[in-house]
Amino acid sequence: MNKKSILIMGMLCMLLTACHANPPSSSDQLQQREDALQPKENNRAADLLNRVMEKAQIGMTIGGPFNVLDSKIDEVKGEWGSPDKEDQAGKGFYATYNDKNFALGYNAAGEIFDVRSYARELNEITSFQIEDRYGQPDQLRKTNREEIFVYEIDKEIELKFIIPKGEKGVHHLSVMNLERAKDEYILDIKGESNQLSATAWESMKEWRKQIVLFAQDYGNVYINGPNKKQVALTFDDGPDGKVTPAIIDLLNKYKVKGNFFFLGRNVEKYPQVVKEAYNSGHLVLSHSYNHIELPKLTAKEMQTEIERAGNSIKTVIGKEPSILRPPYGETNKQVVEIAQQEGYSVVLWSIDTLDWSQKEASNIVNNVMNYVRNGDIILMHSDSKKTEAAKALPELIESLQEQGFEMVDLETLLNIKAYH
Ligand SMILES: [Zn+2]
Repeated sequence: MNKKSILIMGMLCMLLTACHANPPSSSDQLQQREDALQPKENNRAADLLNRVMEKAQIGMTIGGPFNVLDSKIDEVKGEWGSPDKEDQAGKGFYATYNDKNFALGYNAAGEIFDVRSYARELNEITSFQIEDRYGQPDQLRKTNREEIFVYEIDKEIELKFIIPKGEKGVHHLSVMNLERAKDEYILDIKGESNQLSATAWESMKEWRKQIVLFAQDYGNVYINGPNKKQVALTFDDGPDGKVTPAIIDLLNKYKVKGNFFFLGRNVEKYPQVVKEAYNSGHLVLSHSYNHIELPKLTAKEMQTEIERAGNSIKTVIGKEPSILRPPYGETNKQVVEIAQQEGYSVVLWSIDTLDWSQKEASNIVNNVMNYVRNGDIILMHSDSKKTEAAKALPELIESLQEQGFEMVDLETLLNIKAYH
């Protein structure tokens, strides 16, 4: 949809009390449509949506005076001071101002390419009100976790409404300058296995596609690092008494830093191994306490999973980690928000060695070497049932070094804190 047709549609909508462009097609939709047409709320929503569109057409959004056409991050800091949070990732840089309910994405040149509003009043806007106001979106990106209504303002600018799954209201909106955002470095997730059924492989591919989109909408979720000749080796599900110590020895031998996402319950069983990992300079990070899919838990239970794991690690090394990898990579808006409240970033991966599914070390090496790119985060495992990762490690490290990749910890790769 171009600028002109949105303007015309906006004017039409102002003339009529409500747009009836699309006939409702189910009773559920009818109900929602009736909800959308409650006169008072509808007027408020229409006013807000009009303001949002007016701003989007000049590259701005509600709640902040900056735009994605010529604003720079220095101006933002000059006016608003230091942000509460600044993330550097494959996706560029994001500055978050909590009190303003506002976040800004900027590229390496300091140019703002994304302005995001988290204004509370957005929660009252539903998808039906959006479509009533603007018509069908140019793109509707549906994932397991959210629906994103995308309106193309012009060739460069995109207006997006993000509605988490199971919720009616908008969580945040984003106005993005696609030209300026080109510096964003977003990798898709690689890695194959000869042991997966066709169905399992299809659902894995779908999960990968969706999680990459999801990560782009949250500043504290990482799939990969920046476009530099660095990668991170990560090991989940330990510690154990055999595989984890073998991996630590190999990493030490090659003078390479590793990242261990340990389970709280295993940390309590093998504190010596945890100490050894930490004292050797590897990162000791959280993979939750019990290895349960976090999105299936209540908020309170999620919090407990994160806190228990953090405490068990703190008991051993004296520090609580601030990086979490949710079990199975399963995450959603609530997990991310609770992680954030608890002071954690969420780090997933961009290469899956699938070392849990295939039994040949050579396949693990190939899964990395066939695909490796700058900034890759490589997923392996270090529990007693997965002995292949340790066998693959010497060849993997040597091959990566031959290609000039530096293997670093996640603190270095992502420029985030590993511990509280
Ligand atoms: Zn795991």
